[in-house]
Amino acid sequence: MTISDRYHRQRLVADIGDDGQHAIGKGHVAIVGVGALGCMSADMLTRAGVGTITLIDRDIVEFTNLQRQVLFTEEDAKNHQPKASAAAERLKSINSEIQINSHVEDLTSKNIDRLLEGVDIIIDGLDNFNTRYILNDYSVKNKIPFLFAGVIGASGNVMTIIPNATPCLRCLFPEPPPAGSQETCDTAGVIAPAIGIAASCQCSDAIKILSNNINRVSPTLLVFDLWNTQSSRFETGCPNESCECCSKNNYVFLQSNSSPEAAVLCGQNAVQIPGTGPIDLEQLACRLKSQGSFHRTGPILRGALNEELSDEGNSVVLLCFEDGRAIIHGTNDVGRAKAIFARFIGN
Ligand SMILES: [Zn+2]
Repeated sequence: MTISDRYHRQRLVADIGDDGQHAIGKGHVAIVGVGALGCMSADMLTRAGVGTITLIDRDIVEFTNLQRQVLFTEEDAKNHQPKASAAAERLKSINSEIQINSHVEDLTSKNIDRLLEGVDIIIDGLDNFNTRYILNDYSVKNKIPFLFAGVIGASGNVMTIIPNATPCLRCLFPEPPPAGSQETCDTAGVIAPAIGIAASCQCSDAIKILSNNINRVSPTLLVFDLWNTQSSRFETGCPNESCECCSKNNYVFLQSNSSPEAAVLCGQNAVQIPGTGPIDLEQLACRLKSQGSFHRTGPILRGALNEELSDEGNSVVLLCFEDGRAIIHGTNDVGRAKAIFARFIGN
């Protein structure tokens, strides 16, 4: 058996065949966020022979990632390797026949055109809603399928968005939840099998779309809870006629260039994150209790995170303000600061 026969079992699947495999080999998939979901998707699509895979992630590998982020090793965590490049190295050793691009960057409305140029499918591997809504706008505007998934604990939601044919994220959820209002995997935990379900659904739809079987994509929202052994698929119907995004073409998240940017605070080894709206500090303090020693003084919640270390080896200190801002002490790296914000506060 030669190396080119590696896709034999996939070609045997009736709807794929040689033509489908050939089409998969010409496809370009972007995986935005190379955490638990992104690792599993990247692994499956690399093995499936997707011609070009673009990985985008702003964060570094940590020991608490290893329980579920299947492309990373203890060595990656020890050396604080960026997730996008560590994943790319591993994937190249799995399949040297395909092109793998990696960007250690924070995807924003400003760099999205460059980062997603030429992609056929966008896979959601994100841990925050703001970037997800930027992707949703981009997907609808440019008519690129967007494979949404969100997982927490043992539960998840998965929905494939085919622009103009199925509802977009904003048809179902017009606005992202307020900052700090939702649990995150870093505060409520997550088990790897739940990630596996969601990533598998995303990847099977990616394979259907790339192999010219888009008609096999189910226009439904999958909601599952592995812990209580429940799952349902909800018919999503047609795009919502009052949707700001797909019906009115009002791409507010893509056009949010005027909103304040995260900024390095000179000489303080700290980054300020502007946030997106007021935060309920009482509720946040409750959720962060197990993450470090947090205390509230008036409009500020302050605490040192047990697991996050600064470049000097001290704890990273988080300051959250009622108006939604946060200052993260212990790093000058805007991408890392935004990742910490997304993981512990949530947006
Ligand atoms: Zn819509």
